[in-house]
Amino acid sequence: MANTDPIFELRGVSKVFEDTCALSDIDLSIRNGEFLTLLGPSGCGKTTILRLLSGFETSTTGDVLLGGRVVNDVPPEKRQVNTVFQNYALFPHMSVRDNVAFGLKMAGVDKAAIAQRVRDALRMVHMELLADRRPGQLSGGQQQRVAIARAVVNNPLVLLLDEPFSALDFKLRKAMQLEIKQLQRSLGITFVFVTHDQEEAFAMSDRVVVMNEGRIVQVGTPKEIYEDPANLYVARFVGDINILDATIFSSSNGGMYSAEVEGVPMNLHSKRTFADNCPVKVLLRPEDLRVHRVAEGMLDEPHLLGRIAQTVYKGATVDLHIRLDDAHGGKTLMGSEFFNEDDEEIIYDAGERVAVTWVDGWEVVL
Ligand code: ATP
Repeated sequence: MANTDPIFELRGVSKVFEDTCALSDIDLSIRNGEFLTLLGPSGCGKTTILRLLSGFETSTTGDVLLGGRVVNDVPPEKRQVNTVFQNYALFPHMSVRDNVAFGLKMAGVDKAAIAQRVRDALRMVHMELLADRRPGQLSGGQQQRVAIARAVVNNPLVLLLDEPFSALDFKLRKAMQLEIKQLQRSLGITFVFVTHDQEEAFAMSDRVVVMNEGRIVQVGTPKEIYEDPANLYVARFVGDINILDATIFSSSNGGMYSAEVEGVPMNLHSKRTFADNCPVKVLLRPEDLRVHRVAEGMLDEPHLLGRIAQTVYKGATVDLHIRLDDAHGGKTLMGSEFFNEDDEEIIYDAGERVAVTWVDGWEVVL
């Protein structure tokens, strides 16, 4: 199968549990060999999608296809799809080695082959030296590595991972994210990962599926989703965002619009099409704002005026909270500036008057 062929497809899938509609109208094509993450808040249907893929759940309407074949009625053990759970689900009375070997033994694989494959799987997750321990003698991160080794030892086509790091502390979680990404690259199989953590999704994924209330809202690379969110929900869910109110007056060609943003006439860029006199939202990431001292003289480019409400020192960057003047809507914007050689420029006092502009062309208009 070529790498661009879908391994899994969901076509018109919905899932209703008694009185809860967990999924509606899901169309999703999962590419062979990609790292895909389902991202969304609690209850949006991520786990239900995983369970449809693994075969532990059947759809109410629509089809699930694996390798181009409808598998709605194919049970989990016939799908070559394994799942890694948040709680590891290891057998406590068995050694690490026996935990990983268990499925192969059940499948009747011969002893020498089991020994070799278990060794390889444990080496992949850096656990070969702890093969004789029991799960209770391992840290949470080590237990999760064993669970992953067990899930890849029988060469699945797809590995499903349901919030596998949520029980781990922040630092270990970051380390495991990198390890999992490397493991996926070296195995070359498809990983479908579930998380409600945007940073985790962005750190690992080739593509991210953003979900809300049982529906897919956007599918794209982390960069596409961050820089060009499909709507306000996605924009707010993935990182900090400033939202300004504007009215489009008229368009010229090339996606340039003349507009009024929080009472100030200026030009806006957008790939989208708007009617004249259309109210819009202008979305700006904190790092795309430019903050200028008013005392240094007025800017000749259009700008919004405000005051520094608060500064938060972050080491390499400083976060700036800027309260816009009432004449400019009175919102509090968040900026983020990198320190450079003349870093005195970005040390502001609370209350200081500032003008705000943004990097040309970086706004998203919805
Ligand atoms: P979380 O991040 O909290 O795990 P999720 O995005 O994975 O959430 P799902 O577990 O897929 O969400 O649940 C989606 C919706 O379906 C929720 O409203 C949930 O309560 C409901 N649901 C899931 N499984 C069942 C079930 N077996 N019976 C009834 N309702 C269910």
